[in-house]
Amino acid sequence: MKNYDVIIIGGGVSGITAAISAGNRKKNVLLLEKNETLGKKLLLTGAGKCNILNLHISSNKYISSSLSPIDMKNHISSKNLKKVSDFLESLGIVLEHRSDGRVFPKTQSARDVLFLMKKKLKKNVAITKTGKTVNDFVNRNGVFTVKCKKGETFEAGKLIIATGGCSYAGTGSTGEGLKWAQNKGQKIEEISPALVSLKLKKNPFFIAQGQRCICSLGLSQKNCMVFSTKGEVLFTGYGVSGPVVLNISLYYKNKKNNQFLFFDFFPNHSKKHLLKIYNERSNYLKTKDVFDVLRGWLPEKIIKCFQKHFPTEKSPEEVFYRLKNWTTEINDTMGYDNAMITKGGISFYSISKKNMMSTKIKDLYFVGEMLDITGISGGFNLFWAFHSGLLAGEHV
Ligand SMILES: Cc1cc2nc3c(=O)[nH]c(=O)nc-3n(C[C@H](O)[C@H](O)[C@H](O)COP(=O)(O)OP(=O)(O)OC[C@H]3O[C@@H](n4cnc5c(N)ncnc54)[C@H](O)[C@@H]3O)c2cc1C
Repeated sequence: MKNYDVIIIGGGVSGITAAISAGNRKKNVLLLEKNETLGKKLLLTGAGKCNILNLHISSNKYISSSLSPIDMKNHISSKNLKKVSDFLESLGIVLEHRSDGRVFPKTQSARDVLFLMKKKLKKNVAITKTGKTVNDFVNRNGVFTVKCKKGETFEAGKLIIATGGCSYAGTGSTGEGLKWAQNKGQKIEEISPALVSLKLKKNPFFIAQGQRCICSLGLSQKNCMVFSTKGEVLFTGYGVSGPVVLNISLYYKNKKNNQFLFFDFFPNHSKKHLLKIYNERSNYLKTKDVFDVLRGWLPEKIIKCFQKHFPTEKSPEEVFYRLKNWTTEINDTMGYDNAMITKGGISFYSISKKNMMSTKIKDLYFVGEMLDITGISGGFNLFWAFHSGLLAGEHV
């Protein structure tokens, strides 16, 4: 005897979206969430303002080890962006587009987004039970039995798992869903914290902590540049942080891979041009000392780091060469507690790209962050949570 048509485990963005999408199709839906409230992580997004989407949607803003480029393009498309925008607007959320492509709710409030999602759920769309930690589930004769912590069970013909990854565990995303999936035979692509600050080996910028600086930043492995970007870097006691570092962290593998960061402190000038400026400044400042010439041009704290780290390099040629090619080894990330996202997850090799259903267990679906696709920061990951939730909800 089935109690529900569909059970959804996890009341984050992807789970709530799947519940609304399935409920709109008159399915009898149960949404189970372990926290006492839904959408705890959503409330943290965009520092509470919720960077909900990005108009510059493109497959090159995402990485995945198991989704083919063609499937990536099919999912990450303007057509699907429009579909998600329409869905949000159907809930009453007014979207505001920024000049850099980022999209926010007009009220600049993640709380308002959550309020409108919950309001829709209550309109006879789904039954929501919070404070229900799911321990596991079994599938027998086409019926899924979901077992909760206190021995309670629920049954349905279809099951959507939307339990997220492992980052910011305090929001409830503690990785159980990934373990269940693995136990049930789903392939898991190696997971790691991403969109996270990076620790540097023997941090050469320790004394520059608190300093911000526009740099060009590259990440290399085995002498190959894997990714490069330009923007504001924040130097910290452990290494580096800031939006460009978070994005570059997507390409960091792990400690074993000896990956290096390249800093160019003068990304808008060639070395030749820098030497020309040096000569001009040297003339009117009446000094040949390269560090005196650099003062007021490069932050003092960075100059101090340079002098400490490269005590013998004093000629303008050496100094400018190094400031455009300062290489340092990455030690690690700052871990899941500080990571905005979990990279890797359930492999698309055993997921139907049409509807997010497992190709191993019929009527079992996975949505959101737990799947092996990760976007850079700027609204790309919420897009995936909404998009995958909608897809599964339309097909259950
Ligand atoms: C600080 C921060 C800021 C961010 N800002 C942005 C942003 O501005 N823009 C953007 O695009 N992305 C942002 N992200 C990423 C974005 O929040 C995630 O991509 C998105 O929330 C993933 O949604 P989800 O539904 O897949 O998972 P989650 O939001 O993690 O939801 C999973 C839910 O499942 C529940 N659950 C887990 N296990 C169980 C269980 N055993 N039983 C019952 N329930 C369970 C959890 O309690 C949780 O509520 C940010 C992330 C962080 C951490």
